[in-house]
Amino acid sequence: MVRKINRTSIEWCDYSFNPVTGCKNGCIYCYALEIYKRFGWSFEPQFHEERLNEPTKLQIPAKIFMGSVTDHYAPWIPIEWTKQCLTVAEANPRHLFFTLTKFPENLAKFQFPHNVWVGISIDRQSRVNGLKYLKQITAVRFVSFEPLLENVEVDLYGIDWIIIGGCTGRYRFTPPKKWVNSLIKKARRWGIAVFLKDNLGYPEVIQEWPEGPPCYHDEHDQPCSDYCPSTYQSCTTRDPDTCEIAQEIEREQLDPNEQSEPGERTLLAGC
Ligand code: SF4
Repeated sequence: MVRKINRTSIEWCDYSFNPVTGCKNGCIYCYALEIYKRFGWSFEPQFHEERLNEPTKLQIPAKIFMGSVTDHYAPWIPIEWTKQCLTVAEANPRHLFFTLTKFPENLAKFQFPHNVWVGISIDRQSRVNGLKYLKQITAVRFVSFEPLLENVEVDLYGIDWIIIGGCTGRYRFTPPKKWVNSLIKKARRWGIAVFLKDNLGYPEVIQEWPEGPPCYHDEHDQPCSDYCPSTYQSCTTRDPDTCEIAQEIEREQLDPNEQSEPGERTLLAGC
């Protein structure tokens, strides 16, 4: 069976791209680890070379989370694996890729194509020090405060986007609003876009994107559509499953004989 790239219900992206799976970091709240255990799959780091062409086969310009079930920059992941994934991203400029790590000290070992946004995960105060490495990277830079497990004091200057979320699943935790408000206030000071995950149960919907992301369609002389990563926010449904434009393009452009493996729709973010 030919494998197709997985849709995801992570709110800030459309698909997950996982040629690398598994992680040794052992975060207690790791959804990826939980799901892998449930299905009896190994969570040892592995490279699935056959998945590398998934973004190339996806004709719809999309927002793709690269590495939702691993940490590409962890010391146990061979640099070559991550470089191969970044090469795929560079070869597919119609897509916007997101990559996220808890090992920001290793980011400097990589060159990031312009269509890759680079983020670090900060769940606790002790990870704030990693921002100094992120700020050295030339890319759209973001911080994922998910799950936000502590009130975090942080200087967000130089960051383009923050995501804030709680913890769902077995270790369900909703951070107090005063922690969330404190981060929003810090972001507002520097004009940083804020994206609040639904799992916060926040009274307002705040789901912003950094201003002026490049339009990747332009490089191919194609007109923008509602499904362009740069205009996606204006899509009325924001859901690839129900967006008629997306479904129409997909029907026309994807081989109808290709199918995803059953039960592999990714509902989680590991890192
Ligand atoms: S949350 Fe990220 S760093 Fe932690 S175990 Fe899962 S994949 Fe690894």
